[in-house]
Amino acid sequence: MNLPLKCLISAGPTREWIDAARFISNPSSGKMGFALAEEARDSGMEVTLISGPVNLPNPDDILVRRVETCLEMKEVIMEYFSTSDLIIMSAAVSDHRPKFPVTAKMNKGEFPASLEMEPNPDILQELGKLKSSTQTLVGFAAETNDHLAKGKSKLIRKNLDWIVVNDISNTEIAFGSDLNEITILSKEGDKIFVPLSSKKKVAGHILEIVCQ
Ligand code: C5P
Repeated sequence: MNLPLKCLISAGPTREWIDAARFISNPSSGKMGFALAEEARDSGMEVTLISGPVNLPNPDDILVRRVETCLEMKEVIMEYFSTSDLIIMSAAVSDHRPKFPVTAKMNKGEFPASLEMEPNPDILQELGKLKSSTQTLVGFAAETNDHLAKGKSKLIRKNLDWIVVNDISNTEIAFGSDLNEITILSKEGDKIFVPLSSKKKVAGHILEIVCQ
């Protein structure tokens, strides 16, 4: 009996808290990651979705774990990583977090003129180091310029099997859009363009390509 493939997907932004009322984040809607999770489920995979804060309901028949910060996302991803066959990291994770977050709300006058930041762990890069030969690891690269060159260098640096490159300077497919247009690069040198289409259709193409 063939067991269903286990698929682990990250989606949405992270929030890095400054104080009780303010955080650093980005406009990721989570739509691409949720579309991937639904398509993977519909193709028969057992799906776990780790999502940052987004306005999307839990899809049926998918284990959803909601997180806020990069550190929380990393901890939850690590719970599922070693037992996953296909890992797709589409979350827009904050690269940095405030070094000295304040538990209470700072008054206007107390707010510092500049914030000291510290680097967050690069979850995907750490997974690239842990990955076994039977696991397929897919990353995303959201770029405004030199997309393919930057995507290729992330593919190599993070030891990925595939990277999905997005041009976020294109307003039609920018953060929050229901549409996407991507190029997928593989470590073997494949370069596959998926033209403008719904995120659902793009998700289907991504899964077909990375599961081939
Ligand atoms: O280097 P960059 O942030 O552009 O890489 C994007 C890819 O790396 C995405 O797949 C994202 O989910 C992942 N990432 C991560 N942890 C970070 C930053 C990015 O897993 N701290």
